[in-house]
Amino acid sequence: MSENEHSRVDRSTLVARLKSEPLWDLAVIGGGATGLGVAVDAALRGLKVVLLEADDFAKGSSSRATKLLHGGVRYLAMGQLSLVREALHERAVILGNAPSISRPLSFVMPAYRWWEPFALGLGLRFYERLAGRHSLGATRRLSRKQLLAALPQVKGEGLKGGVRYWDAQFDDAQLAIALARSASRLGALTLNHFRVDSFIQQGGRVTGLRGTDTETGAPCEVQARCIVNAAGVWVDDLRQQAAGPAGTPPRLKVSQGSHVVIDRDFWPSDEALLLPRTRDGRVLFAVPWLGKVILGTTEQPLEDRPTEPRPMTEEIDFILSEVGRYLVRPPTRADIRSAWAGLRPLVQPSAAAGGTARISREHAVWTDPSGLVCVAGGKWTTYRAMARDVLAHCIAEDRIPPGRDWRVERSTEHLPLERDDNLLRTGIPGADRLIAEGLSEQRVRFAVRHEFARKVEDVLARRSRLLFLDARAARAVAPAVADLLHAEGILQTGLEDFMALSEGYLP
Ligand SMILES: Cc1cc2nc3c(=O)[nH]c(=O)nc-3n(C[C@H](O)[C@H](O)[C@H](O)COP(=O)(O)OP(=O)(O)OC[C@H]3O[C@@H](n4cnc5c(N)ncnc54)[C@H](O)[C@@H]3O)c2cc1C
Repeated sequence: MSENEHSRVDRSTLVARLKSEPLWDLAVIGGGATGLGVAVDAALRGLKVVLLEADDFAKGSSSRATKLLHGGVRYLAMGQLSLVREALHERAVILGNAPSISRPLSFVMPAYRWWEPFALGLGLRFYERLAGRHSLGATRRLSRKQLLAALPQVKGEGLKGGVRYWDAQFDDAQLAIALARSASRLGALTLNHFRVDSFIQQGGRVTGLRGTDTETGAPCEVQARCIVNAAGVWVDDLRQQAAGPAGTPPRLKVSQGSHVVIDRDFWPSDEALLLPRTRDGRVLFAVPWLGKVILGTTEQPLEDRPTEPRPMTEEIDFILSEVGRYLVRPPTRADIRSAWAGLRPLVQPSAAAGGTARISREHAVWTDPSGLVCVAGGKWTTYRAMARDVLAHCIAEDRIPPGRDWRVERSTEHLPLERDDNLLRTGIPGADRLIAEGLSEQRVRFAVRHEFARKVEDVLARRSRLLFLDARAARAVAPAVADLLHAEGILQTGLEDFMALSEGYLP
């Protein structure tokens, strides 16, 4: 079998495998950063793993991040040094394992009080020191003159200087797809558009799950020794399902963060801007990304957990007005190419869990009385550390088969992650037929054949990022993408759903 055929995705084969396997070692619910990381780690250790994702891989928070691989400068201010150090290590691992999806990026932080360049410079030098040999570049204090020479788009009024430091950025959805492909290459079954509806229980303990293939409506039962709930902000919903009528206290709080995307003309720089103090006491970024600029983010507490969250009018106004205070040419609502929101899963401390978790971006792993292993919180940058903790937890609880020492791990630290490469594209037609800027017929066909894409939205939101970059352009090209999906044998392309959903990306 050629390399090309080997990695080709055939959904009917995947579904048939799901049905034919009598008992999986591990079933993972949720195909975001967390679940996919667990699937890769478990498959690398040789476990029989299935991962089920209700919608598309990275449909949830994992395609809606600010796209930063970072230690978290603000955790530094909170004194959480071990958290920062771990994340800086993970930043280096991702840069090494997924070099075509991630890159170092310099940030400039302007200062408006005379002492700030010195104070910020000290803090950020310490941040650089924490990275140790993984430092990506020297932190430098900038005079007012140096800052304005480098970034003439920044208003000079009241400016005292600033600091330049280094972090990194990535393409979040692309990394998720790379993880799904890597897990699959290692023998895991990764299935998107397959929703988990309920649990099979014996003696009050979960032993399996019932799900639905959302493409066909066909139900399916899956038995597993251990079930990991990695459903992001929906973790509590599944916990309630498993707990039954007695219920279980919620563990998550949710906050929404929104971003807007504008053209590069407003920020024609290769550096990112970090605005250190918004009116609500947070930080705001302007980050160059795939030929556009992302502005964000906000932090809005939310009771609901919609699958397609929408930026609120006040969030968009807030971002524009805050950025407008610093830029010579402030963007207006009419300049927005796309606006999108994501939901942050924040873990609350639990008496049952010994009160060890803190409400922060830090993650928690625990087992409910139902036997469901749950993982939540954290951030994209630390997905690998989260996966390692989940596996350690399952091993400590004897939840995966005895007879082998699963701790003798081949570490994911040195596992290159796949993405589309030229070898695999060879033989797929349409390389020279562009259907939008940067999107060829071949790219769409590749997304179906090798990247699990099943819907117009999968292609335009997460294989190409056009919906996140320019919603009008994505809407214009959607019918052509639907035609190509048809040509690839997909009957229900979700074109109408995409046209309805994409309106929400136009402010
Ligand atoms: C606005 C914002 C900005 C951020 N910026 C950054 C950043 O710059 N850097 C960084 O490191 N981190 C960042 N983060 C954090 C990061 O995005 C999240 O921590 C991470 O994506 C969470 O991944 P997850 O897999 O836990 O959740 P999700 O990505 O939400 O995945 C959960 C998945 O479970 C699926 N699911 C739910 N119910 C079911 C079911 N019944 N059956 C099957 N599947 C189900 C969902 O469809 C979903 O795909 C940001 C987060 C937000 C919200």
